[in-house]
Amino acid sequence: MALLSIRDLVKGYPSEWGGLVDVVNVAAFELQPGEQVLLQGESGSGKSTLLNLIAGILVADSGEIVLSGENISSLSESARDTHRARSLGYVFQNFNLLNGYSCLENVELGMSFGAGADREYALQLLARVGLANRHNYRPDQLSQGQKQRVAIARALANRPKLVLADEPTGNLDVKNSLMVFESLTRLAKEKGQAVLIVTHNPELANKCDRILRMRDGLFID
Ligand code: ADP
Ligand code: MG
Repeated sequence: MALLSIRDLVKGYPSEWGGLVDVVNVAAFELQPGEQVLLQGESGSGKSTLLNLIAGILVADSGEIVLSGENISSLSESARDTHRARSLGYVFQNFNLLNGYSCLENVELGMSFGAGADREYALQLLARVGLANRHNYRPDQLSQGQKQRVAIARALANRPKLVLADEPTGNLDVKNSLMVFESLTRLAKEKGQAVLIVTHNPELANKCDRILRMRDGLFID
């Protein structure tokens, strides 16, 4: 069974000229367990909106999103929040780490809606992204690449079946982009977690199972 299954998904916003424009219009899409898919498309093509719909941060106008057998389109807002915290990891371009907390605490906070804090697993994840000696540092004491590796450890902390990453390497140089990308894909592969990654970096294109391209809300070939 597919891990994620999308059907006739539509999300529109008011256009500059009045009326609604479909920002996302996806007829059918399936993601298999453990699959690693790259999502590409020009700025404004609807990539972030699609990820936010899958995460249940945004609500679609119509259509269906089924994740791990649960139809998230039919959940209440609080049920979607719980579902997201338990079943999904999310990596953002701007890291979204809490600077008042250590790296270890940031990863543990990622666990708080799931099975609960598991310090040993948090330390293990931080070690696996190359930050074994940095777990007591605060995020603002780290480089951009290191921050994003903390965010990856946090995204994986609840053992989600699916990790969404929205331009996770967008703020990084080439060397750090590669390191972050490989930290994410290697760890996810090892743990059987599927990944949907938005990236513009052409060097990363051949490192995934499949590439999807979006234009004006549609998947194109
Ligand atoms: P991408 O991530 O591919 O750059 P987005 O999903 O962020 O694209 O945005 C797709 C389109 O939807 C853009 O034209 C954007 O202006 C529009 N859009 C996104 N969010 C909103 C919103 N809250 N209100 C109105 N339009 C929006
Ligand atoms: Mg975007």
